[in-house]
Amino acid sequence: MDFSLSERCQDYLTRVSDFIEQEIVPIEADYFAQIQQQAGNCHVLPIIETLKAKAKAQGLWNLFMPVEPYGVGLTNEEYAPLAEQMGRSFIAPEIFNCNAPDTGNMEVLIHYGSAEQKAQWLPKLLSGEIRSAFCMTEPDVASSDATNMAATAIVEGDEVVLNGRKWWSTGIGHPQCEMIIFMGLSYPDAPKHQQHSMVIVPKNAPGVKVERLLPVFGELHEPYGHGEVSFTNVRLPKSAIIAGAGRGFEIAQGRLGPGRIHHAMRTIGAAERALELLITRGLSRSAFGKPLIELGGNKDIIANARMAIEQARLLTMKAAWTIDTQGIKGAMSAVSQIKVVAPNILQTIADQAIQIHGGAGLSDDFPLTMLFAAARMLRLADGPDEVHRALIAKLELKKYA
Ligand SMILES: Cc1cc2nc3c(=O)[nH]c(=O)nc-3n(C[C@H](O)[C@H](O)[C@H](O)COP(=O)(O)OP(=O)(O)OC[C@H]3O[C@@H](n4cnc5c(N)ncnc54)[C@H](O)[C@@H]3O)c2cc1C
Repeated sequence: MDFSLSERCQDYLTRVSDFIEQEIVPIEADYFAQIQQQAGNCHVLPIIETLKAKAKAQGLWNLFMPVEPYGVGLTNEEYAPLAEQMGRSFIAPEIFNCNAPDTGNMEVLIHYGSAEQKAQWLPKLLSGEIRSAFCMTEPDVASSDATNMAATAIVEGDEVVLNGRKWWSTGIGHPQCEMIIFMGLSYPDAPKHQQHSMVIVPKNAPGVKVERLLPVFGELHEPYGHGEVSFTNVRLPKSAIIAGAGRGFEIAQGRLGPGRIHHAMRTIGAAERALELLITRGLSRSAFGKPLIELGGNKDIIANARMAIEQARLLTMKAAWTIDTQGIKGAMSAVSQIKVVAPNILQTIADQAIQIHGGAGLSDDFPLTMLFAAARMLRLADGPDEVHRALIAKLELKKYA
């Protein structure tokens, strides 16, 4: 494994970093202040579209996509340092059209979509004109086990009929969200991993209703919004099924590999930002005659954070390299490992950064509560820590079988 950056990758990294520092970070505080004033109303602030156009014009667009001509053809390993930079800002991923769940949904379309499905949805997603949601998790079943999904996708002649209730559908509240990938039960009597189907649903299809947006620690996450969505007798042509009925589980597994690692890459950037804030604050204020950083065990906190970030970055790079060289299947343990490690280190460092900021750490004057909340939710989104640990242990024990 050689993680030195190629010339091309270094060029992208410099340009992405400069864009974030010069164009995005300076507008963040004002952006979030405006979003807060509009609490409950999801609409996109004009600055986002302006910055999207600027990033696109500079070729900083769809960088996550390894498949040409859809993206610029960076490998996962090459994309990792760019995603890390995007993780420093909550709004950066969308500006580069590299945000979840659209990234995973585009990958599903490219790898599993029919020519018709690709033609209908991909250009608009790739251009950033529309956004999408992924509806798998359900309120009524333990959704960390994807085979539990009980909402139905029943094939009736030339149609597929959807019924059920989904929640935690990220992005469903975005005003530009026009497309949903829905996972439903088609064949309850088939083998466990061939019972479900993935279906493309236009968000405005009759029978689709966003029931409410779900707050995370009291915040609605405008303008993206995680939502609860009901599907009542939603009738679509059978051609809306992705790759054929019964292949939903397989697609879900394939979809989550790169998505999980993108989260991990961004999380490293978020952890770096939390550590920077921690150190800056600790150096700039004094108590008991010394800078805060000199008191108690604060230097140990810095050292431990640095060691944790470096380890997590290397594990992220290894997981990315493994996907590139061995595919998702060969990378399952590494991806699950970093899916557990990265959010946990961010959670710890964000918590410590809040602490050294004193009361200010809990205010909106610093992005620390957002960083903490992001870490906490990533320990559930795309599968809880425990499920990933179970997979890692299973693969480990297999070696002894
Ligand atoms: C912010 C956020 C965004 C999300 N976005 C999306 C989205 O866009 N689309 C979507 O479909 N879903 C999304 N999710 C849902 C997420 O993937 C699920 O919450 C997650 O998979 C867990 O499912 P569950 O909530 O039903 O918990 P359950 O399945 O009920 O699990 C609850 C708990 O049980 C324990 N547990 C489960 N399995 C094991 C095990 N094997 N060993 C030990 N303990 C175990 C764990 O403590 C786990 O946290 C999102 C969630 C959050 C919080």
